[in-house]
Amino acid sequence: MSAPVIELRDVHVRYKARNSTLFRPQYVNALDGVSLCVKRGQTLGIVGESGSGKSTAAKVLVGLERPTSGIVLFGGEPLISFTAGVRRRLGRIVSVVFQDPATALNARMSTRDALLDPMQVHHVGNSADREKRVRELVDMVGLPQSALGAFPGQLSGGQRQRVAIARALALDPQIIIADEPTSALDVSVRAQILNLLTDLKNQLGLGMVFISHDIQTVRYLCDEIAVMNAGRIVEYGSAASVFDSPSNEYTRTLLSAAPSLLAPRTFS
Ligand code: ADP
Repeated sequence: MSAPVIELRDVHVRYKARNSTLFRPQYVNALDGVSLCVKRGQTLGIVGESGSGKSTAAKVLVGLERPTSGIVLFGGEPLISFTAGVRRRLGRIVSVVFQDPATALNARMSTRDALLDPMQVHHVGNSADREKRVRELVDMVGLPQSALGAFPGQLSGGQRQRVAIARALALDPQIIIADEPTSALDVSVRAQILNLLTDLKNQLGLGMVFISHDIQTVRYLCDEIAVMNAGRIVEYGSAASVFDSPSNEYTRTLLSAAPSLLAPRTFS
């Protein structure tokens, strides 16, 4: 198995609680000693209820949040500074697909401009190379070339998420972090977007981190699963081991809230 692209070792993130006052500060341990690895060609699911620390973990993985303590390694090198330059470098290695493409995309940018933008910011290629890459990207995410001239408001939710995925791929990253990428979409297009992400991961040998509160979705998509509760990883292993023999009480509770998953085991 390949070496991890990103590794978190005993990472803690402590926020000042939103209801804290100047004289009585209170803190939230959003991450409380999290260790995990993200590798190329592998999908890691991070699952847990709202408030369990999933998004904070995602922010640390993309270098947007600095740990209060612990180590973040990129390509085996510990990340020491969190300067704009370091974040730019990470931005080429790790891309994010957010929950709601309607807010993630700039309403005044056409698909072409949204896809050109990351390449221009990172000074990738000349204008002919970029134009060629834009056409490749829309093909890769299954959009017609005619979508290049469209603005987000002229596209459906599923098409917008395809544009957001194409944009995430523009710089040829090694890792994609997908934070609840289908929860703002119509149920009818969710499976298409999940299939697209899985196909892209396989074709491009990407590493993927798939964040979800829905343990059912995660099961079919992920090689490994980390179950989070109150800022800690309470269970971490292959998807099969987590689902077939969950060792943690909290994981069993999550699974029992999704009865269809238990059915095959009940009858086997
Ligand atoms: P999840 O993605 O699983 O819903 P989050 O990572 O968003 O969880 O949040 C974990 C905890 O940290 C929650 O208790 C949340 O209220 C708190 N939290 C997240 N971001 C901040 C912030 N910027 N300031 C204060 N508390 C925060």
